[in-house]
Amino acid sequence: ADQAYLQLQQDWESNARSYPRRFPLVIDKAKGLIITDTEGKTYYDCLAGAGTLALGHNHDVVLAAIRAVLDQQIPLHTLDLATPLKIAFMQEVLSLLPAGFKEKAKIQFCGPTGADGVEAAIKLVKNATGGKSILAFQGGYHGSTQATMAMSGNLGKKQHLQSLLPDVHFLPFPYEYRCPFGVGGGMTARISAQYIENLLDDCESGIAAPCGVIVETVQGEGGAVPADVEWLRQLRRITAERGIPLVVDEVQTGIGRTGKMFSFEHAGIVPDVIVCSKAIGGSLPMSVVLYKAELDRWQPGAHTGTFRGNQLGMATGLATLKFMKEADVLSNVNERSEQFFEALCRLQTRYEEIGDVRGRGLMIGVEVVDPNGRKDRLGHYPPCGERASRIQEECFKRGLIIEVGGRRSSVLRFLPPLTITAQETAEVLSVFEQAVVEALA
Ligand code: PMP
Repeated sequence: ADQAYLQLQQDWESNARSYPRRFPLVIDKAKGLIITDTEGKTYYDCLAGAGTLALGHNHDVVLAAIRAVLDQQIPLHTLDLATPLKIAFMQEVLSLLPAGFKEKAKIQFCGPTGADGVEAAIKLVKNATGGKSILAFQGGYHGSTQATMAMSGNLGKKQHLQSLLPDVHFLPFPYEYRCPFGVGGGMTARISAQYIENLLDDCESGIAAPCGVIVETVQGEGGAVPADVEWLRQLRRITAERGIPLVVDEVQTGIGRTGKMFSFEHAGIVPDVIVCSKAIGGSLPMSVVLYKAELDRWQPGAHTGTFRGNQLGMATGLATLKFMKEADVLSNVNERSEQFFEALCRLQTRYEEIGDVRGRGLMIGVEVVDPNGRKDRLGHYPPCGERASRIQEECFKRGLIIEVGGRRSSVLRFLPPLTITAQETAEVLSVFEQAVVEALA
């Protein structure tokens, strides 16, 4: 039966899809970390809706929230009109913001995807500042609409398009392991910060006044690359001094993924604009932009959309946020993160092919390299997508779903539910180790 379904998917669905090709399964049921296919085989889902499923699949509090909406005849669609649920959701979301932001914050509900949120955020800062260009980072990823692709430095995905919209300046990201300046050793972040200051000095001369800087504090699709926290502080200082809004794309990192509610908290900084999607909808489609009220210079109707702030997503999002607080899910993220790092770093000492183990919280990347290739100036072998893909395939055969990303798709990425238990983590790591042993034999 599975093969028949897969054939129909192949026949009917767009060729643009990617993950389904690497994970040929037809999902029947899912709960928590576990997916069960139509033939009864189970899988550990460490992709978790690309980081969307903070509490895993079909968590009881999420299901109860959906049932409550249905039982109470809460309208499923209200355009932008108010409901008590919407007000409660906004209150909960605003309460998460750091001091210096939450006192005067605004929420913009956007279309359902992360890309919708990023597009709205950039429109917002363009409108508020009058600046035309955007500063973004090499290796970054912000979406698949044309404007968000224009800002994504993760180039592989946009090769085929001839022209994209915004005027974007790409800045080097402090990717220590593959230092863009070939230096490393703590210098990457310092040189990168200096580079940003120089570029902004040039932009300020009026040729291309920037409307903002957009950054992921941990590049997700770029290969789980965390930015040095001191560099983030420098980025905040540099943009604040020049009055340029700092937009943090928290689509993947936000809502606990990195061990803090928002990933910028690791650096103790306060951005001007935050884009949230994925986990904030508690399994359902949702994106919101949170921003300082002084940027709220929209004319009424300047940013509209039919499907914004869907009620069911607010109910599941609210339930998710409340549960995260009550069950102290952040502590679990930090404990499980240590467990992952400890085991993966141990594996790294056994295999030259494992070049780097990095990330923050439960956003973890294992960069696979080619020991037969030529070392770079930092003494690191080249990225090896082929070996990463073999490991991914061996994981899948053993019932573990992990995604790849980064340069040449060489980075194996773990994005498990934030509620993954110690026992489940141990099982996932054991399967991963077996897959590595097999793939690199
Ligand atoms: N920004 C970041 C940081 C992301 O990781 C993603 C999705 N992976 C997006 C934006 C785009 O979100 P969506 O796929 O929902 O459009």
